[in-house]
Amino acid sequence: MLSYQHSYHAGNKADIHKHGILCAVLEYLLQKDKPLSYIETHAGRGLYDLKSVEAQKTGEAEAGALAFFDQYISKPENTYVKLLQKIREEYGPDFYPGSPMVAAKMLRESDVIHLAERHPQEVRALKNFLPFPNVKIHDKDGFKMVKGLLPPNPRRGILLIDPSYEIKSEYEELPDFIAAMHQKWPVGIIMLWYPILSPSRHEIMLQNLEDKNFESIYRHELFFDQVKKPHRLIGSGMFMINPPYQIQQKAKDIEGLLKFL
Ligand code: SAM
Repeated sequence: MLSYQHSYHAGNKADIHKHGILCAVLEYLLQKDKPLSYIETHAGRGLYDLKSVEAQKTGEAEAGALAFFDQYISKPENTYVKLLQKIREEYGPDFYPGSPMVAAKMLRESDVIHLAERHPQEVRALKNFLPFPNVKIHDKDGFKMVKGLLPPNPRRGILLIDPSYEIKSEYEELPDFIAAMHQKWPVGIIMLWYPILSPSRHEIMLQNLEDKNFESIYRHELFFDQVKKPHRLIGSGMFMINPPYQIQQKAKDIEGLLKFL
């Protein structure tokens, strides 16, 4: 069994970066009435208590979402900030939405959400936090789930791949997996989140992705200070196939919001 648990890291600056960009992509797709599919390979638990023992242990949420709430929550000028405000009103001031909750709160009943998660405790939490008829929770390997689902119905939509990178071979395997999924679903927006660590591990993966010569790609990276000294996370990256129009500006907006933390 893998040991990674997102509760230790939820609401860190990388999460805000990832979820802020996800929110912008969803907002773009929601401009049309046609239903869409949201598919996620590594869902986590959907909702996080940022004052939990796990979160306090790393201090990442305190330097991330809790500071972000203090700075912005009373003046929601951005769709992602509005969503955070809504979650705090519904669940309490220390609660932070993971990517499945971001999608579930933004999407409509006609849209379909597929979430894969392998950790039994996280699956139980997901079922509890997202008991909605259009949400399908797959208690299995996310890569296998996606292979069976693509191309999805509805045909428009997003695939978010957000692994914990605990298995180091994931860096080597992801480019081929993404190329195969793009071939099965050429119109889908495929988003891959990756950590920027010191020393770095993601660069070869990105080079391999570039070598695939996808027609339309976008990449956004954000760098920040380590929260605690031995902590190796120094940045957050998002690679995307079929990026929506104006994503550059939207990513810049999120980067601007994070500048003050
Ligand atoms: N996407 C979530 C978010 O942003 O709120 C965070 C996900 S966390 C980085 C990675 C999750 O993937 C963990 O909850 C872990 O249990 C789960 N996981 C690890 N390997 C998996 C696999 N092969 N298939 C599905 N889930 C997996």
